[in-house]
Amino acid sequence: MTGPKPRRGLCLVLAAPSGAGKTSISRALLAAEPDLHLSISVTTRAPRAGEQDGVHYFFRTRPAFDAMIEAGELLEWADVFGQRYGTPRAPVAAALARGEDVLFDIDWQGHRQLRAALPGDVVGVFIMPPRREDLVARLRARGDDRDEIARRMAEAEAEIAHAGEFDYCVVNEVLADAVATVRAILQAARAATARQLWLAP
Ligand code: 5GP
Repeated sequence: MTGPKPRRGLCLVLAAPSGAGKTSISRALLAAEPDLHLSISVTTRAPRAGEQDGVHYFFRTRPAFDAMIEAGELLEWADVFGQRYGTPRAPVAAALARGEDVLFDIDWQGHRQLRAALPGDVVGVFIMPPRREDLVARLRARGDDRDEIARRMAEAEAEIAHAGEFDYCVVNEVLADAVATVRAILQAARAATARQLWLAP
């Protein structure tokens, strides 16, 4: 047999406590993996400096967000830091059917719901900072104020408590190494026999 083999796409979920370097890892992954597409979430939180609607998030009011829940347009959603975040359903279903892979930057609640909604399609990776102090340092460098840092540290502890629900745990000591490990996980997941539509069941 020659040529590319038909394969079902997969959902690569990256979750992490704030400040673990998840955004850097997902940026590097997207740059290195042309066949991996980022799922753009909907959120009720205000845009940060430099964030654009439709690029980083779809920024929506609370009533507009809740209307999407009502209409069944979200694959999963959760309250995080007092704001709502959710994953639009249609782009994910279309990508998986086309055999494309989707990257999700969501929290543990989203990961849990996604696994339930798409059994067999989800590969969960939890990114850990090597040391607790690194979390605070990275949050400071990002310019969050003191209250925000304290709140996010508490949320970080809560997020870490769910690390065991993920398939893999990658410690982000050196960014390039962490990216290489996540890419290796992605390559292996793509090769799983269950995703090869051309193989006899
Ligand atoms: P931030 O406000 O810093 O962009 O994101 C805060 C947290 O919300 C992060 O942990 C991020 O992964 C999570 N998050 C972003 N989008 C979604 C989503 O669509 N669903 C869920 N469950 N969490 C999300």
